Amino acid sequence: MTQPDWLTPQWLVGGAPHVWRPYCQMKTARPPLPVVATRGSRLVLADGRELVDGLASWWTACHGYNHPHIADALRAQIETMPHVMFGGLAHEPAYRLAMRLAKLLPGELDHVFFAESGSVSVEIAMKMALQFQINRGVSGRAKFLAFRGGYHGDTLATMTICDPEEGMHSLFAGVMPAQVIADLPRDAESEAALDALLAARGHEIAAILVEPLVQGAGGMLLHPPEVLRTLRRLADKHGLLLVFDEIFTGFGRTGTLLAMQAAGIEPDIVTLSKALTGGTLPLSAAVASRKVFEAFWSDDAGAALMHGPTYMANPLACAAANASLDLFEDGSWAKDVARVSAAFAEGLEPCRGGQGVVDVRTLGAIGVVEFDAPVAVGDLCARFAELGVWIRPMGKVVYLTPAFTTPDADLDLLISAVRQVVGVN
Ligand SMILES: *Cc1c(COP(=O)(O)O)cnc(C)c1O
Repeated sequence: MTQPDWLTPQWLVGGAPHVWRPYCQMKTARPPLPVVATRGSRLVLADGRELVDGLASWWTACHGYNHPHIADALRAQIETMPHVMFGGLAHEPAYRLAMRLAKLLPGELDHVFFAESGSVSVEIAMKMALQFQINRGVSGRAKFLAFRGGYHGDTLATMTICDPEEGMHSLFAGVMPAQVIADLPRDAESEAALDALLAARGHEIAAILVEPLVQGAGGMLLHPPEVLRTLRRLADKHGLLLVFDEIFTGFGRTGTLLAMQAAGIEPDIVTLSKALTGGTLPLSAAVASRKVFEAFWSDDAGAALMHGPTYMANPLACAAANASLDLFEDGSWAKDVARVSAAFAEGLEPCRGGQGVVDVRTLGAIGVVEFDAPVAVGDLCARFAELGVWIRPMGKVVYLTPAFTTPDADLDLLISAVRQVVGVN
């Protein structure tokens, strides 16, 4: 955006030479939009304009910004105890949260290991899976199976299980271990191919990792629940653990509280983050099944999981997560997700007629318009901002993942902005 100079805040000018921004060619990128406040479904910019947030800040702020119930919980917690180390000490926000997560996760997903970011929780799940095999006396299972189109984080180990292009496998070839990357088993033929791959190489592989129902950052690619049941069958047949990365899909985004519930099966480990704190503080968890946990339960100190991030189970973040779970308890989120879903299904449908559009799809509170080629992200962000909305496309897709509580009028603004940009108004 070009802004009149007198509206550019001093902190933006002073800090810009020093802040290294995310996913950004610093030399050529447009300047970022200065945000001074948030409320409900909106961002307030330094010049007083309000943008409807179509992304809920990278899929975190599911209840909308500045929710009073979460704010109250944070105020109370910061007065009492902002942080204590988790090694050797315990506190109520984390213990209560672990109990609640174990209760809401299906089956025997009962053992919660906290961390501070999504990527780190995936790294922990990978470490759990490797050591699970070692602790059981199985050697040689040192690799992971993941899928084209997948995204599991930006740290080095998680990059190796992302889509090979998105994860920059060629740029870093030789630096990172090569994992086994396959196509999702969507039909009998690809299932047979994966089964054959595992028959040949399964003995090298500790676990299968997948984002259930939606491959998010890889392009909002959808697959049916049957794919997950197939993966469960193949993991069991070949002695692999199954890890669901629900960092994006967890907490209602796809229409069920967890995506795994749509498939009626459970993984051996699930990772959670993003909407876990309702978009207020960084927190993540790798939650293991009883079977996984029991492989670490031993009189041998060497069998323990040696991991413990400094800010593990930060009490403020756990208090926010408990407050967010309170908000999920009355069930109104499901009606809101259905309302958003219906608005997207109807409102985005005409985009099929747009130039270069190859697909329009909706699942839960996710609406996607896919083009035949990558879009100019910076230009489109600026265009959307002029239309009063914050939408940041990704690769070939323009997508909407707003707060579930976004009012109908703001949903209309998001949809009509997408339609204008696609040229179908
Ligand atoms: C965002 C995301 C991650 C990484 O989480 P960070 O908190 O950004 O490290 C991992 N997996 C999935 C599915 C994600 O959407």
